[in-house]
Amino acid sequence: MKRIVIVGGGFSATSAAVQLVRRSAAALDITVVEPREHIGGGLAYSSDEPDHRLNGQPGMHSPDPADIGMFARWCDDNGAHAADPAARLANGTTFLRRSVFRKFLQETVARHASWPTGSSIRHLRDRAVDVVPGALAQTVVTAGGAGPRCRQTSACWYWAAA
Ligand SMILES: Cc1cc2nc3c(=O)[nH]c(=O)nc-3n(C[C@H](O)[C@H](O)[C@H](O)COP(=O)(O)OP(=O)(O)OC[C@H]3O[C@@H](n4cnc5c(N)ncnc54)[C@H](O)[C@@H]3O)c2cc1C
Repeated sequence: MKRIVIVGGGFSATSAAVQLVRRSAAALDITVVEPREHIGGGLAYSSDEPDHRLNGQPGMHSPDPADIGMFARWCDDNGAHAADPAARLANGTTFLRRSVFRKFLQETVARHASWPTGSSIRHLRDRAVDVVPGALAQTVVTAGGAGPRCRQTSACWYWAAA
């Protein structure tokens, strides 16, 4: 099984993990290294302050560009607009709370954590401190001492096994 380690668990990691799970016919073993309690919130969406709102409409906020309506559908299914009437302006545009988007992202990760193709997303609650190259694999060293391994560096924030 291909192993993928994603360092950091904010929106970018959520988007990458969800798209990999959805697109890959082969089973992927994805580990997200993130010190926060959950994957999804990151810096922008971890705030619980109710006045901290998204800077665009739900249709502009999707972890999968091939499924741009997924947050809007989730909002409809979960009564997000009814629960927050102040989000809607007189012209009909809505600016929901960032914490609502975080909840959506967390649920989205959970929904993709065990996929019918055999792919999985696992949260390693830790902080990456180093990447040590080896002959056959790289090891992502964490502050807690865990060492998820993968084959090659393919972007600045995730590493994919060949
Ligand atoms: C206050 C604020 C509000 C914003 N509002 C919006 C908005 O409404 N709409 C919009 O489209 N964009 C918004 N943005 C832009 C937003 O930052 C990006 O859209 C996106 O959320 C960035 O996600 P990211 O995963 O790249 O980074 P981050 O969200 O910063 O996630 C990085 C993650 O990496 C983790 N991390 C850091 N170092 C390590 C390490 N050594 N090991 C493991 N994990 C580590 C951090 O804990 C963090 O969770 C906002 C940004 C800010 C700062």
